[in-house]
Amino acid sequence: MSFNREDYKNVKISFEERRKKAVLEADEKRKQVAAKLPEMKKICDSLEETGPKIYAAALEGKDDYELRLQSIRQETEALLKRQKELLLSNGYPENYLDVIYRCPLCCDEGNINGKMCGCMRAELVKAGYESAGIAGLCGKMSFDTFDLSYYSGEDRANMELVFEKAKEYAESFSGIGSGSLLFFGGTGLGKTHLSVAVVKRVIERGYYCVYTTSDKLFSDLREERFRPADDKSPSKTEKYGECELLVIDDLGTELNGRDIVPFLYSLLNQRINSGASTVINTNLSHKELLAVYDERIVSRLFGEFLPYRFSGKDVRMQKLKLNQ
Ligand SMILES: [Zn+2]
Repeated sequence: MSFNREDYKNVKISFEERRKKAVLEADEKRKQVAAKLPEMKKICDSLEETGPKIYAAALEGKDDYELRLQSIRQETEALLKRQKELLLSNGYPENYLDVIYRCPLCCDEGNINGKMCGCMRAELVKAGYESAGIAGLCGKMSFDTFDLSYYSGEDRANMELVFEKAKEYAESFSGIGSGSLLFFGGTGLGKTHLSVAVVKRVIERGYYCVYTTSDKLFSDLREERFRPADDKSPSKTEKYGECELLVIDDLGTELNGRDIVPFLYSLLNQRINSGASTVINTNLSHKELLAVYDERIVSRLFGEFLPYRFSGKDVRMQKLKLNQ
């Protein structure tokens, strides 16, 4: 499991800030109540002494250390009890001075005893959708929303198999060596839907994924190619090489890509050689792919990727007709 490093860094920072803010807010409330109620000020001051007192007792380490510790604890409990009474009798909720963390399980630390807390995992998944480029798509396109009833007869049987294989791939994805998939077949047969469903699930399982349309990939590769040597801005193409799962949607629809094809080849090659996984979908047939790309790419696609043929009647057209 290795979430996108950049996402991890950002989420970690937001947790630290969240934690600090919660502590500051409680601090503010404490000051505000103490200013109003002199007894509360005394209690708060005494409570602040608890830590140093325990520390001093431990340092001295005398025979009666445990007894002294016990008495400090009793004193603290009595102070806390009185604090609650004071709060209630002055119209505040009794937990008014507690630090209110967004996640009470990990107190916004993001982990519990060294294990990542569910709240941080959820934020990383959310950040993963964003940085993978599927935030807008994954609500609609998941395995749960894939409707096999649009396919019939042999196509239904075929698509059930494709669906199962895609799901199996996403569920068993384990980073390096997980293999690559090629989804091919006519338009409107659910290739984009299943590609997004795969990325979504693989992100949820904690892997660093990037989803891109072929057009966007080509334009980024082109920009990188013509980048002035003194341009120090972050590279847009680095993520395509680094991520654990790269999904390229609609290969073959990019405009004017001829000069960029060698860069696509080297990206795919680099990924294949390092054992990184790629899922590509295309409307083009083997023959049509050969007309657009050179033989090296096409033979790699069909040689190294596990090909799945999508079949049936254009689902988008069927939906349109249903809505008419
Ligand atoms: Zn938590």
